[in-house]
Amino acid sequence: MERIFKVVVIGDKLVGKTSFIQHYSRNVFTDDYRMTIGVNFASKVLSWSEKETVRLHLWDIAGQENLTNMTNMYYRGASGCVVMFDVTSRRSFENAAIWKHDMDSKAMLPNDQPIPCLLLANKCDLPQHAITQCDMKQFSDEHAFLAWQKVSVKKNKNIFESMRILVQNMMTWE
Ligand code: GDP
Ligand code: MG
Repeated sequence: MERIFKVVVIGDKLVGKTSFIQHYSRNVFTDDYRMTIGVNFASKVLSWSEKETVRLHLWDIAGQENLTNMTNMYYRGASGCVVMFDVTSRRSFENAAIWKHDMDSKAMLPNDQPIPCLLLANKCDLPQHAITQCDMKQFSDEHAFLAWQKVSVKKNKNIFESMRILVQNMMTWE
């Protein structure tokens, strides 16, 4: 049996959303891909168990990062969400709260529960972290994230492990 989930990836520009989607779905990291405008998605298939296959449709909000009314359309039908920020950018961290709120105010699961959201602190390979672990933990609790994790898309750190947490949660719904 195959189960399909739409997962939207949101957060400020330049935090690494497109890199994340490309890397996760194709196992490659490249500094040089063409900038894309509008909504795009990539598909990722996971063998979940002997009987179950999971297909994720990862939606990239490319080019709509200024939080327009467009986000409504983008969130529709989502089963899961990834909110990403850049550990070297305090501003992108603070804005993660705005993204989460935007999501919660516009979209819900069919059973009226909020959409499970993973908080990913990307670029942890870089030296100058602007946010402490303690701040991240508090922030994740305060804004009701499913889980949070420090990741590096570039160094392939914690990417697949984090996504499993989200998939595990989505598999319990419906
Ligand atoms: P988006 O605007 O959120 O889609 O961000 P992009 O995926 O375009 O990435 C913005 C920049 O950050 C690019 O130059 C990427 O190569 C870089 N980048 C993405 N992930 C990482 C990471 O884990 N570590 C480092 N050092 N750079 C990254
Ligand atoms: Mg992008």
